[in-house]
Amino acid sequence: MKVLVLFALLAAANCEKVFIGDQVIRVNVESEEQILLLRALEQDTYWDLDFWLHPVNTEVPVDIRVPSSSLYAVKDYLRAHNIQFSVMISNLQELLDEEKAEMEENNMSERSSKSFNFGAYHPLETIYSWMDGLVAAHPNLVTKEQIGTSYEGRPMYVLKFSTGGDKRPAIWVDSGIHSREWVSQATGVWTANKIASDYGTDASLTSLLKTMDIYLLILANPDGYVHSHTSDRMWRKTRSKNPGSMCRGVDPNRNWDAGFGGPGASTNPCSDSYHGPSPHSEIEVKNVVNLVKNHGNFKSFISIHAYSQLLMYPYGYTCKDALHAAELDSVGRSAVQKLSSLHGTTYKVGSICKIIYQASGGSIDWTYNLGIKYSFAFELRDTGRYGFILPANQIIPTASETWLALKDIMEYVRDHSY
Ligand SMILES: [Zn+2]
Repeated sequence: MKVLVLFALLAAANCEKVFIGDQVIRVNVESEEQILLLRALEQDTYWDLDFWLHPVNTEVPVDIRVPSSSLYAVKDYLRAHNIQFSVMISNLQELLDEEKAEMEENNMSERSSKSFNFGAYHPLETIYSWMDGLVAAHPNLVTKEQIGTSYEGRPMYVLKFSTGGDKRPAIWVDSGIHSREWVSQATGVWTANKIASDYGTDASLTSLLKTMDIYLLILANPDGYVHSHTSDRMWRKTRSKNPGSMCRGVDPNRNWDAGFGGPGASTNPCSDSYHGPSPHSEIEVKNVVNLVKNHGNFKSFISIHAYSQLLMYPYGYTCKDALHAAELDSVGRSAVQKLSSLHGTTYKVGSICKIIYQASGGSIDWTYNLGIKYSFAFELRDTGRYGFILPANQIIPTASETWLALKDIMEYVRDHSY
């Protein structure tokens, strides 16, 4: 305990937000009435709750990070309303300390061995310099293109895998649009390396790259990612200033011009799902919008999030079926079958609105409406044991199984040109 307090004090001196005694509790919702009570709880900012999983229906659990100062009151509220809950993470700071210690240890061993460990979490600078190494090692396949800069002035780089041609039909993959979902960015890194090293040996991938390009944006929200490393591990949004508010940041996956400002996005700049002042107000979103529009030949757009183990397709802003819902559903089902074959991890497939909740302003709704039929979003591991703090030893298993699904989608796109 003393060590823990020392750690926390050091972190506090570093202006890093601490989560001592914070818990993540899970509610297995039993009735419509309980959903309404939990929604009321979510609307109430007084207890400073962070809903990792929102109240949707009685099928899916609700995960709430409760600050230690609110624990007593929140548990009291739940008990008073006969709402059953269990504690998933009993002291969040302990997990964060372990995560940090592991990263420091890994950093030292990478320095001494001059290697890169794909089974570890890395800060932005390390990922960016690793990208240069990948480009240098595969100059005939991989290039790094700067698509713009972030709000705080960081370059945003996309890796392009191409064997030639001009604006060939292309597949887009991005990770880390929500910065705290660290297994997403780590999966992006692993995937980039996988594509580069399997080209030439994996016949299917090689044939794909004969006719198509792959674009991979590993850090779709660079400012948020840095902030989640240096100041607040739970940071999800961009870091832009909101005029007239003390709270910073916009949810970059509520900021796209698709049902913008509708249900499932907040008008409150302090909310983690704040949609921002206008569509594409976030430069990080705008940079991707510009690239996708200028390119004009993307056939698939895949965005990687965590957690919940879901593979989703449009729409999020409405529960009405997309025109290609049946086809997207069958592509998704085939992909998760491949995914599950590796480690037995189970995934659900469906439209965003139907399997999680109505959420407006999401990226894949925008790309789908633009005409990119094969638009998908993944929610990677896990199902809540660790949530956003997925231990690093699950990075490689997660990325490896996800690759089987990604490859399956890519092959389908290659074989179904439109
Ligand atoms: Zn996300």
